[in-house]
Amino acid sequence: MPALVLVGAQWGDEGKGKATDLLGGSVDYVVRYQGGNNAGHTVVVGDQKYALHLLPSGILSPNCVPVIGNGVVIDPAVLLSELAGLQDRGVDTSKLLISGNAHLITPYHRTLDKVSERFLGKRKIGTTGRGIGPSYADKINRIGIRVQDLFDESILRQKVDAALNEKNQILVKLYNRRAMPAELVVEEYLGYADKLRPFVADTALILNQALEDGKVVLMEGGQGTLLDVDHGTYPFVTSSNPTSGGACTGTGIGPTKIDRVIGILKAYTTRVGSGPFPTELFDEDGEALRRIGGERGVTTGRDRRCGWFDAPIARYATRINGLTDIFLTKLDVLTGWEQIPVCVAYDVDGTRVDEVPHSQSDFHHAKPIYEMLPGWSEDITKAQTFEDLPKNAQDYVKALEELSRCRISAIGVGPGRTETIQVHSLL
Ligand code: IMP
Repeated sequence: MPALVLVGAQWGDEGKGKATDLLGGSVDYVVRYQGGNNAGHTVVVGDQKYALHLLPSGILSPNCVPVIGNGVVIDPAVLLSELAGLQDRGVDTSKLLISGNAHLITPYHRTLDKVSERFLGKRKIGTTGRGIGPSYADKINRIGIRVQDLFDESILRQKVDAALNEKNQILVKLYNRRAMPAELVVEEYLGYADKLRPFVADTALILNQALEDGKVVLMEGGQGTLLDVDHGTYPFVTSSNPTSGGACTGTGIGPTKIDRVIGILKAYTTRVGSGPFPTELFDEDGEALRRIGGERGVTTGRDRRCGWFDAPIARYATRINGLTDIFLTKLDVLTGWEQIPVCVAYDVDGTRVDEVPHSQSDFHHAKPIYEMLPGWSEDITKAQTFEDLPKNAQDYVKALEELSRCRISAIGVGPGRTETIQVHSLL
């Protein structure tokens, strides 16, 4: 012990990479538990910037074992190219462990992701097009291909055949695409087997043993709470469980082993893709948040939708994840506004609603009710303690803490590794 979970408290892109990286030095294992290369972490180490999609950000910490848990879906070509890119830059990747139970993304998953989005027209989800949803759908349908299947040629062949028997009907008859020959997929994927073999292990066993030996294990979610397939803004969600419950199923570590659940919460709000977003801004404030915050997707290069802080969402994240701590990120982006609006409740068709509405239709109609908080103009990027922050920035943080119903234990005041204020220890 201890086991920690790190979750995005909004719609993803809250800056989890920075938090995992900050903790990485004191953590023995960093495990990704869901999602795939739809995620994107930017980690800044010194003057070096790393964009990671599939690998846990702990891979940049020399004493940490990075783990891809069973709940992740892996595109092997992407994984190998991400590893090669890091090796070229002198990063040691040899400690990586990959669960043999993790599912694979195949070329037919990527094709189906793209054509099904096109088919949805204006009701599209706005997926990243990486094949994530179709791969998870096959997992649940029990026709998925797992990492361990790469090491048994006849099983791999049988499974790809079975999956493509169905998919090819759909590709050809429904989407008017060419059929995908099973043999091509099998040949390509057999080619990955030897390259991946050294990393593959029974990660659930290793992680539980590590906890018994008193090691620190950090479970890192991709995306965020509101993109969770059960608790998010369905259907505008990802196809897995980024919330803390997903950390148990996606790693094989039981809930009784978990000590802390840390929510990463941006000092304002962003979202990529379609779906409701009550505090979204369509004016120059939204443009300024995008520009100053560098709000452009690491994975897709899409501009992120930007808006003010939404307290009902933060409270929802506290509740659904059982948060014990919040890591507030990007506070520095808000420097320079005379007043900062904070959404404290919604107006739903004329009625004040204090929590995230349970009904999807109500959430689509929710208009933010704002309280104005005084802003600050001083540069806060050099602040090292809470007391170094200007009074109005302190008050902003305190207000967010109260509204979120969870203590704020760390505050990001700039993109770099050291630009973080620790209020309470996260370990
Ligand atoms: P998918 O995960 O590619 O299936 O996309 C489903 C939804 O999740 C879309 O709205 C994506 O934009 C969103 N999404 C997926 N990954 C991320 C992420 O890492 N950050 C923010 N949004 C994401």
